[in-house]
Amino acid sequence: MKSRKQQSLYKKIAALALTMLVTASLTACSGGQTDPASDTIKLQAMPTKLSSFSGLVTEIKSMDNKVILKKAGKNVWIHTSYKSINGNKVPANGLIVQTKQGIVLLDATWSDKLAGQLVHMIESYFKQKVVLAIVTHAHEDRMGGVSGLIERDIEVRSTDMTARLAKEAGYAEPNAFLDGEPQFMVGGTQFEVFYPGEGHGKDNVVVWLPQTNTLFGGCLVLGQDAKALGNVADANMAEWPESLLRVKHKYGQAKLVVPGHGKWGNAGLLNRSIELVSKSNNT
Ligand SMILES: [Zn+2]
Repeated sequence: MKSRKQQSLYKKIAALALTMLVTASLTACSGGQTDPASDTIKLQAMPTKLSSFSGLVTEIKSMDNKVILKKAGKNVWIHTSYKSINGNKVPANGLIVQTKQGIVLLDATWSDKLAGQLVHMIESYFKQKVVLAIVTHAHEDRMGGVSGLIERDIEVRSTDMTARLAKEAGYAEPNAFLDGEPQFMVGGTQFEVFYPGEGHGKDNVVVWLPQTNTLFGGCLVLGQDAKALGNVADANMAEWPESLLRVKHKYGQAKLVVPGHGKWGNAGLLNRSIELVSKSNNT
């Protein structure tokens, strides 16, 4: 059983590497030209505001403030998009990773409209195409914009479980390529996807960028400013701290840890999340 599983894993990794190569050469050939089918992106998108520090742009905002990009490290930006829920503006974070072959996006915003705005902002500012998107679990704050990305010919990948749950929930289905802790390279940047077990959801994965010690924790990890656990409708409260411990053992050296919502920080966020979940379990 295990060796069959391993074999299929090797096959998947080989397929992934090949697709990455193809994607890379296609992107290299396209030379960053505007997609002829991007009229809707232009219509949807609004002019953006730039903030800078010592002449370097560190923040890009859409005019309606619904999509904000913030520089968080070398070639790493955080995208935050907002949805109104019961009168509250709820933020959701994802990552923008600049590689030599294009942008890799982690998580797809709340909606197709926000995803379109995000892609437009990325293409206008970075002058690069989004070559791959990874979604870290099948909830609206990660998946809402997936069909908007697929419409723009962006490949979206997830684990098999996330793809299945997405389909069940009526979202566009990502390609299930990310099982078995895959490590892969896009345009010289290394990525590692890790499923630590259940927590915030059944299917939550984290993404590790070893070259910059960056951990995208998604909703498994709670923000620096979190006072509550957020949406726990699909949570496994007993397993959540254990899954966080697995992440801590593997990536405790992280310098930047980005949660699904709220303020990012360092590896201390993992301990803080373990404490918050454990406290909630004991009350
Ligand atoms: Zn979620």
